[in-house]
Amino acid sequence: MALTVAELIAEGIGCLKSAGIDDAEIAPRSILQYLLKQTSSGLQVIIDKAVPEETAELYRKLVKKRCGHVPIQYILGEVEFYNVKLGIDRRAMIPRPETEILVENTISILNSFSNPYVLDIGTGSGNIAIAIASNVDNVKIKAVDISDEALNLAVENARLNDVLDDIEFIQDDCLRERFWEEVGRFDVIVSNPPYIDAGDFDKLQPEIKLYEPKIALITPGNPLLFFKAIAQHGRCALDVNGAICCEVGIGQALKVSEILKKYLGDVDLKIVKDLTGIERVIICRLI
Ligand code: GLN
Repeated sequence: MALTVAELIAEGIGCLKSAGIDDAEIAPRSILQYLLKQTSSGLQVIIDKAVPEETAELYRKLVKKRCGHVPIQYILGEVEFYNVKLGIDRRAMIPRPETEILVENTISILNSFSNPYVLDIGTGSGNIAIAIASNVDNVKIKAVDISDEALNLAVENARLNDVLDDIEFIQDDCLRERFWEEVGRFDVIVSNPPYIDAGDFDKLQPEIKLYEPKIALITPGNPLLFFKAIAQHGRCALDVNGAICCEVGIGQALKVSEILKKYLGDVDLKIVKDLTGIERVIICRLI
């Protein structure tokens, strides 16, 4: 007898709980929504319907991956970010909801320019650049990442969202001194750089430390290294009234603000909290 959606969900939750997965309630529903091409309310409508055996087998295979702590986004191979659909896999870090706050605030700055030119440092899956290109008229973006693998994924995502003409993807390292001489001048620099202290790596959830690219998370040495590089070169790399918009780690907002003020001089600086009250985004405009 084929099992119903509700029975499969209960079975999946049971497997995940015995594997010690914290958010055991989430993945079973997401996997079934994905396999049955349903929204969450759509899944509720068919909750007592039988699921074909082949689908149930596929479902069990994906639940098993989640039991091994593979993040749900890597299992499904897709993620939604700022209303944009992106492909995602282990080539790049999974876009986070708090980064949508960075995008929202960056877009409102960009709306004060007529043909804004943006530098996205550490583009990863391309999430920030693609969300901006999809929402701001006449924007051009240079999106940089050190990882060729991540850039390949970012290009695929830009193509998927029809914004490939607006974004130039470049493999480079902003910690390289010559980078800043060569990169050009922009209206806005946006970045969600690696900011986790290498010493804290072992404390991260298995989902993160086993599966996400370490290079996207951890800084070599000082965790504020990327913010310092951006601040140091900001005056040369930004045009009049330019802005630096970046995401910071827990407890870093004050220190990063000080670094920005130290190197950039007169600025209008705003710190934005995320939904959990953590100071998460810094918007720093040159004056
Ligand atoms: N820009 C991507 C993001 O915000 C990747 C960031 C990174 O690799 N540190 O998700």
